[in-house]
Amino acid sequence: MPTYKAPLRDMRFVLNELADPERLRALPGFEEMTADLIDPVLEEAAKICEEVLLPLNRSGDEEGCTIENGVVRTPKGFKEAYQAFSDGGWGGLSSDPEDGGQGLPQTIGMVVEEMICSANLAFGMYPGLTHGAYAAIKKHGNAEQKALYLPKMVNGEWSGTMCLTEPQCGTDLGLIRTKAVPSDDGSYRITGNKIFISAGEHDLAANIIHLVLAKLPDAPPGTRGISLFIVPKFLPTEDGKPGQRNGAVCTALEHKMGIKASATCAMSFDDAKGWLVGKPHQGLRAMFTMMNAARLGVGVQGLGLAEVSYQNAVAYARDRLQGRGIDGVKAKDKPADPILVHPDVRRMLLTMRAQAEGCRALCAITATELDVATRHPDAQVKQDADDFVQLMTPIIKAMFTDFGWDATAMGMQVFGGHGYIRDHGMEQFVRDARIAQLYEGTNGIQALDLVGRKMPQHAGRYLRSFFHPVLAYIEQHEENEAMAEFILPLSKAFGRLQQATAEVARRGFTDPFEAGAAATEYLRLFGLTALAWMWARMAEAALKHPDDETGFYKAKLATARFYMQRMLPQTSALVACIMAGGETLKQFEDAAF
Ligand SMILES: Cc1cc2nc3c(=O)[nH]c(=O)nc-3n(C[C@H](O)[C@H](O)[C@H](O)COP(=O)(O)OP(=O)(O)OC[C@H]3O[C@@H](n4cnc5c(N)ncnc54)[C@H](O)[C@@H]3O)c2cc1C
Repeated sequence: MPTYKAPLRDMRFVLNELADPERLRALPGFEEMTADLIDPVLEEAAKICEEVLLPLNRSGDEEGCTIENGVVRTPKGFKEAYQAFSDGGWGGLSSDPEDGGQGLPQTIGMVVEEMICSANLAFGMYPGLTHGAYAAIKKHGNAEQKALYLPKMVNGEWSGTMCLTEPQCGTDLGLIRTKAVPSDDGSYRITGNKIFISAGEHDLAANIIHLVLAKLPDAPPGTRGISLFIVPKFLPTEDGKPGQRNGAVCTALEHKMGIKASATCAMSFDDAKGWLVGKPHQGLRAMFTMMNAARLGVGVQGLGLAEVSYQNAVAYARDRLQGRGIDGVKAKDKPADPILVHPDVRRMLLTMRAQAEGCRALCAITATELDVATRHPDAQVKQDADDFVQLMTPIIKAMFTDFGWDATAMGMQVFGGHGYIRDHGMEQFVRDARIAQLYEGTNGIQALDLVGRKMPQHAGRYLRSFFHPVLAYIEQHEENEAMAEFILPLSKAFGRLQQATAEVARRGFTDPFEAGAAATEYLRLFGLTALAWMWARMAEAALKHPDDETGFYKAKLATARFYMQRMLPQTSALVACIMAGGETLKQFEDAAF
């Protein structure tokens, strides 16, 4: 059975020594957010994840969800765990105290999310979707909707969903067929079929609040004609209790590769009563609030799985005896050396570690900017922070989830054939990791978002939110000898990114196919450079502790070196691909595929 210990030491490092805690504390409402307040929260979160959620991860996978006459049941133990989770206030950790939330920074919320994803990704889907729906209603709902729904979603009594996908409509939401017809009382009747709806039906909460995309009768065609509706499973009574059953039912559960304890539902809306959120035909904008938050959350899923896979792979590599060290016997008293001694196993472990720690750092930095973008009193500072978050969102979603897949596959590889056998639980991590590359917009779509929207928007303003601070950082440390081994490779990768950016922008301007052809490699190049910036900064922080006896900072420096020397050079190959252009993709005859 896999084990998991929340990496609290590393989490504290990124929160206190890498991200800027003063920047957080300067925000209105966060003045008291000192380590003294945050540490116990992290420790309690670790406890519930390690002691309550982790033990249900395997059984949840084995048992899955079941459906009988439209009633969906989650696996044994999930109900109790959900209750404990909600009672502990974990669902509303970063929600507004006005709605009953704990009002903690989203930076802390993301760290806790990582723990949840490591311990039990399928469980995390239920509060995760609820939090996304909360964010959308909070931003776009009217006062009455906020008062009715938000407190119950924050305390976990009611849960939430996002209902976008239909059989004919996945990436291209302009193809939505679900209809919304106005009623005399100001509500709407919603009719249509949605598929793949996470947490669409289950037995954890007393009510389920669906956020549904649908088209009004006078809707303009395409994505400009989509509106957003609140459609509760039970229509709330006057006193806010779940009342009459609404026409929103689960018709089937999808059978799928992983996250089996997360109910993925085919939903039928049959003249269901719903209420418009925000303005007519502006539903996609409102839903994007939810999707942007969710995209960062999905990125964290990749990070969480990379971490738990790494931890288990290290433990196994210490124990498993096979062969002798290529450079001599290491464990003379044993019949063979632990596989930890083999260079290829060390390569895999260090890759996973560098991925997880690098992503954790980038996540903390981005989440801090998210808090600044949400709360800072100065409009310009707010906008600058938001630009950075906008730019990083597709990178975090796509690169972190690709790493989640890589790292879980490597974790399995470290176990050899035993990783493929169910007993050790490593194959579940692989299966669970795969979905994160697909939902919330496939990773290919994230790459298009980066080159097609984020890159050109506001004449490159989003790009500047990254390019300027990285350049300033390189210049600041150029003369620092101790940092040279980190700054030089960062500077080279940064140069490659600048070169590729100019080329993709130039080519994409005359031929959008060219931008599309470069998108995935460009996103990875960007992400690896962003991680190099993180690793340089982590090395800088570690160099401040030359006398550290715990080994923590020494290991940090060693991982930074590994990243710079063994992972960052991938940027050269990526630039070569990007520079080669899209002709080979374009010219291949369709019929020849
Ligand atoms: C387990 C699970 C849970 C889910 N949960 C939810 C949920 O809660 N709510 C919800 O609404 N949906 C949910 N989804 C749906 C998910 O978001 C979609 O599957 C996803 O957005 C992709 O849509 P699609 O499957 O129709 O693929 P398609 O859109 O058909 O895409 C197929 C392929 O074509 C590529 N592609 C498509 N269009 C373009 C383009 N313009 N340019 C380049 N490439 C393109 C894609 O990248 C992909 O590789 C879930 C799906 C699963 C499997």
